[in-house]
Amino acid sequence: MAATVFVSGASGFIAQHVIKQLLEKGYSVVGSVRSESKGENLKKNFDTDELSYEVVEDLETVGAFDSALKKHPDVTIFIHTASPVAFQVNDNEKDIIIPAINGTVNVLQAIKTSAPKVKKVIITSSIVTQLQIDDLSQTATEDTWSNISYDRAKEDGYAAYFGSKAFAEKAGIEFVKSEKPNFTLSTIHPVYVFGPQVFDSEAKGSLNLSNTFVSRLLELKSESDSQVPNTSGSFVDVRDVAAAHIIEIEKPSNGLRVITSNDVFTSQKLLNIINKNFPDLNLIKGDTSPSAEDTKSNVDDTKSREYLGLDYIGLEESVVQTVKQYLVANK
Ligand code: NAP
Repeated sequence: MAATVFVSGASGFIAQHVIKQLLEKGYSVVGSVRSESKGENLKKNFDTDELSYEVVEDLETVGAFDSALKKHPDVTIFIHTASPVAFQVNDNEKDIIIPAINGTVNVLQAIKTSAPKVKKVIITSSIVTQLQIDDLSQTATEDTWSNISYDRAKEDGYAAYFGSKAFAEKAGIEFVKSEKPNFTLSTIHPVYVFGPQVFDSEAKGSLNLSNTFVSRLLELKSESDSQVPNTSGSFVDVRDVAAAHIIEIEKPSNGLRVITSNDVFTSQKLLNIINKNFPDLNLIKGDTSPSAEDTKSNVDDTKSREYLGLDYIGLEESVVQTVKQYLVANK
């Protein structure tokens, strides 16, 4: 019988792909969500008895995950995806940094106390824990660590997100070092994640933050009053990120930092892909010279690439599928 996996933040963009791939491989899944309506929505969409859910309203409350885990003594693997993913909030510390750190510690403490059968914990971390926020030209690898300070993290929402992921990961590693629990801890470090939602209905309205890098370009209708954002970064498709979580479950590793990254993008490159594949949208053209697509990668994922052995989904395929679904869901 395949194992039972607990997935926190089960209503999220990446988590739903993780759940889909787990179910396809015969695992049973228990997901945590913040409300019953989100749980019922998941049940309706996945439509299988192999998925159940628990409501954990507040990631940060001490003991938040204890009763959910006690109800599922068969859980042997825990995938922690839940964390605030936002750059614009009222209070950077309260809304982003603290929930990320305390959520991670609460999850690990609950597993130690209430889920003795759990042998592997995988946290969806981020490339931002390997980058230097104030010098993004430094290359991130599996062995680099963000040196962001708590005060710097509080300065703005972008920094708060960087800090939240870095402090949460470090808190997790510290927990394992000091508490010596019965499980190993691995972290998956995606770069910007694009790609379709598992279910078309989830693409209605606003998308998860990383996909808005694509969807906001669909508003660029007039050269006179819109401008292509000056954004660039590294990209990976959500299905490859989910696959990396499953690979890490199944490999006999003792805890690793695994990067998921495939290509680089500029907003102009994304716009060029959209214009090529969806000419009827009549979006602005921007700067179509080849140099406007150029950007240097600051990620070296050589070790992870070899470890995962994935045949990555390309940027064009990912963007086209994201846009196609968004247009259908919002027509
Ligand atoms: P998402 O769709 O916004 O998912 C975030 C999940 O976390 C949702 O289930 C959300 O619940 C939950 N959550 C957020 N704040 C919470 C809180 N205070 N208490 C309880 N639950 C909370 O974003 P995603 O892109 O799938 O991100 C999933 C994970 O991947 C995050 O840890 C993120 O840092 C990491 N990651 C994402 C990217 C990316 O480009 N997308 C890149 C690197 C790392 P609700 O559904 O109820 O809001």
